[in-house]
Amino acid sequence: MENKIIYMDNASTTRVLDEVIEAMLPYWKDRFYNPSSVYEMSQQVRVDVENARKKIAMLINANPCEIFFTSCGTESDNWAIKGTANMLKNKGRHIITSTIEHHAVLNSMKALEREGFEITYVNVDSDGFVKLDELKKSIRKDTILISIMTANNEIGTIQPIAKIGEIAHENNVLFHTDAVQGFSHIPIDVKSMGIDMLSVSAHKFNGPKGVGFLYLKKGIRITNFMDGGAQENLKRAGTENVAEIIGMAKAAEIAHEKMKERSEKEIIVRNHLIDRILKEIPHTRLNGGRDNRLPNNVNIGIEYIEGESMLLNLDMLGICASSGSACTSGSLDPSHVLLAIGLPHEKAHGSLRLTIDDTITIQDADYVVDNLKEIVEKLRSMSPLWEDYVRNKK
Ligand code: PLP
Repeated sequence: MENKIIYMDNASTTRVLDEVIEAMLPYWKDRFYNPSSVYEMSQQVRVDVENARKKIAMLINANPCEIFFTSCGTESDNWAIKGTANMLKNKGRHIITSTIEHHAVLNSMKALEREGFEITYVNVDSDGFVKLDELKKSIRKDTILISIMTANNEIGTIQPIAKIGEIAHENNVLFHTDAVQGFSHIPIDVKSMGIDMLSVSAHKFNGPKGVGFLYLKKGIRITNFMDGGAQENLKRAGTENVAEIIGMAKAAEIAHEKMKERSEKEIIVRNHLIDRILKEIPHTRLNGGRDNRLPNNVNIGIEYIEGESMLLNLDMLGICASSGSACTSGSLDPSHVLLAIGLPHEKAHGSLRLTIDDTITIQDADYVVDNLKEIVEKLRSMSPLWEDYVRNKK
């Protein structure tokens, strides 16, 4: 296995598929035209962009006119949340979200709090699922929006989206879901799931970085986030990122074609990783429930070690892993998601997130577990906390 890179950080970003690069290349070369110009070359590019929109719409059972291209998942989240708040502020100033959202959502909420909106952060249970009773109880007359993620980026829990959509609509409240981690891993049907707005980002499913989309149900009006030209039906200004839009549609198409087969493969390797780690490394636990979990997500709490040291040791062996979300790694604060599922600070520090794809084999998984066992043993042998634990046990 020498010199081999084992990439187990697909929740952070994914490799761009060759087919996707091939699909994008012409739009940086011969087909560089601006889709908004009048000549024929440009109009052909316009057709290609609209075909990409159609493809994406079809995958989530939406109408093409409900898909708006953006620059990333963060922009889509910001637009949906702040755009709804701005549009409906005279109707109400209360929004509901969960404690385990990505910072793109949480910090949008914080920005709205500074503007006088009231936000309720619904708790999750110890497996990482939103408490639906609490959600229902927190709805008020002035609630204008519920924003709950489809699947969590750290612990992989898949929320009961259709149920949440139903609760929102019974109460006449709009429902937004951050589907950045869910799209392409699990089937999404915006109609049957009662979704009004949905955020997606291409680099999480083998597409390029710097492009995403917002699904905005026909008839729902939110204020613009980007003001400028007339692109995207006057709703999102800025010359279209044509090549990447084409690449995103291609990646989405491939991901959906292979979803079932890929998930089945990933689940086998995921479960192998979980089972071996829990069995062979003492004082470990699975963060997030086993059921309703993304097929590619493993998140293990490992006691009596520092997450960062473990990552550095894995890195020296060419194993790319993470201890939390990409956006918070580098910070010493424990993950808000692990705290939300009830872990105390010291336990929230020692977590390992492995997010695989279908190129990872059982042999790769074994290589990682074999090395992880040694690393944990080594780090514990240097840890004063471990020493205390061993002494107290005697
Ligand atoms: N939402 C979730 C759940 C994510 O995991 C991420 C990225 O990690 C984002 C939003 C932000 O997406 P982007 O990197 O495209 O801005």
